[in-house]
Formats: sequence, C-alpha cells, structure tokens
Amino acid sequence: MKKLLLIATGGTIASKYTEKGLSPQISAKELLSYVPAAGDFCEIDAIQPFSLDSTNIGAPQWLALAALIEKSYISYDGFVICHGTDTMAYTAAALSYLIQNSPKPIVVTGAQKPIDLAITDARANLLDSLRFASHDRAHGVNIVFGGSVIAGTRAKKERSKSYNAFSSINYPQIAVIQDDRIVFYIDDKGQRKAPLSFCQKLNDRVFLLKLIPGTGGSVLEALASSYDAFIIESFGVGGFPDYGDGSFRRAIARCLAAGKPIIMATQVTHEGSDMTIYQVGKVLKDEFHLLESYDMTLEATVAKTMWCLGQTSDYAEFRRLFYTTVNHDILFA
Ligand code: ASP
Repeated sequence: MKKLLLIATGGTIASKYTEKGLSPQISAKELLSYVPAAGDFCEIDAIQPFSLDSTNIGAPQWLALAALIEKSYISYDGFVICHGTDTMAYTAAALSYLIQNSPKPIVVTGAQKPIDLAITDARANLLDSLRFASHDRAHGVNIVFGGSVIAGTRAKKERSKSYNAFSSINYPQIAVIQDDRIVFYIDDKGQRKAPLSFCQKLNDRVFLLKLIPGTGGSVLEALASSYDAFIIESFGVGGFPDYGDGSFRRAIARCLAAGKPIIMATQVTHEGSDMTIYQVGKVLKDEFHLLESYDMTLEATVAKTMWCLGQTSDYAEFRRLFYTTVNHDILFA
C-alpha cells in the first residue's frame, strides 16, 4: 500500500461559513475523515503547516511547502496538498520550479464547495487526488480537479463557481479520472533523464503590468526601481503601444540597462504570444531581444520569472533558464 502525506493549507475545501464569510477551519485530519474509501488503497499521514485562504498565499508559503516536501520526501510515496482554488495555479507552477523531476507525485487539489456540505465537489477531488498520488505511473507536480489531471505549469482557473474550474492551457491533460479508473494521456514516467532537484530560492520582486488601451511606458518607468523583472501582459500575440511619444521604447531600454528582464505575455488565454508577427512587436523584439512567454500560462510565467530571478542575476543565464522546459511548461521557445 502506498504511503502518502496530506498537506492541508486552507482554502474553500477546508472552510466553514462564518458571519464574516467562508474561512478555513477544517483540520487536515478532519478532511481525511470525509474520504474513508482512501483507506482501501493508501495509508495517509496528515499535516497542516498553515491554514489560509489562498488569496494570502505567495512565495513564502511556496518555499515552506517545498521545504516540507523535501524534508519528508524519503518517508512518503506521494504528497497531496489541499489548497484554495484562487491561487492554486500559481502554487502548482511555483512547486513545479522548486521541485523538479520528482519521480514521486505531488498533487495539488481543492474544491469549489467546503467538504462538510451535503453537495460538494470536495470529497470527489480529494479522493481522486489520493488515488492519483497512489498510482505507480504518477509523478511530478500536477493539479487534480474535477476529474482532470493537469500539469502544474499548465493550469488556469477559468471558472469562479463551477466544479470544472480548471483548464489545461495550450497542452493536453495528463490524465482523466473516472470513478476508480485513471486514464493517462501523457504517460512519461521513467523517460526523464534529469535527477530530482529541490530549490529554496525565489525572488518575488516581479511586476505584472496588464496593458489597457492608453497605457503608456511612463507606468513602467515609475515602477522600475521597485521591481527586478516585468511581465507585460499585452494584446493579442503581443506588442507595445506607441502613442507617439516613444515612452515604452525608453522605459524598456532603461529597465534592460539596469539588468531587469522584461517578458512579453498576452492577455489572450489560448495559443500564446508571437511578437514577430506585427510591427508593433517585432521592431522592439528585434532591437532588445525581448523575452516572451509564447505558449506558457501567465501563472507559470510569473512563477518561472520568480524562480529564474532567484537563481541568477546574469541576464544570459536568466534567458537560458527561462526558455528551458520544466514540467511541460513551454513548447514553442
Ligand atoms: N478564496 C478561496 C481560496 O482560494 C477559494 C477556493 O478555495 O475555492 O482559498
């Protein structure tokens, strides 16, 4: 029988109704009491490093989760993290960079409804996650939610209320779970040559600037001293507006001269960026060799930028790391 560690961090799955709204109150042990059927296929220990609405989860918690998994890695066959859905895609992406090439599964799950309600997706999601984490062919960081297994770098919360909240963006689902059967679409355990690695460094001084019609480069200049890297969420396949003042060109030149990477991403969820298609993108890409997110999700782009910044302050090395595929995150580069 597989031995798993359940790591409860809060979120709706563990929440109860209070006068002030839903807040996490259900302990890790109580969560397990709602899925007695898991006892047929795995043994589970439970731990609760913190109990937060995932709105309040960021780099310090991602590092704590990675450190906790590293410390307990040899004692368990797999890990299931219960987490709020709102920032789950960021956490799964961050863990994909902090724990690379794991032969053991690290599953992130949660629910749209608390586990103690009569009608809820929580019990199915938790049972599916434990089942997936007990499977011999499961490995690496994945989200299990609504019967889908999604690579940790490819998930996006696309629905704020429905049970099928998460989609796999620009990449197939790893597997689907139907009752007690797991059907793998990507079955690549054992094909990875790189060894397991843990990392304990992130730099979260990253700013995501979402452009709207009218945003000028002066915003980037104003923010430049407070952040170490910028992701610009532009329109379509990606370009910088020029309202006649050349302000983006100047701001980009200043940021790059100060060694601050700029990454072009897109506001369009599916199919990714390609700055070379339109003059509004190509001219600046050619001049500054700008990085772009291509087919990566925005969540993975954010987490990867924090991870790359944590590893190096050398721009060429940042670029190499950023375009290195980790947990299926990028295909086009
Ligand atoms: N606000 C909650 C959270 O992210 C939502 C959820 O878990 O579904 O923690």
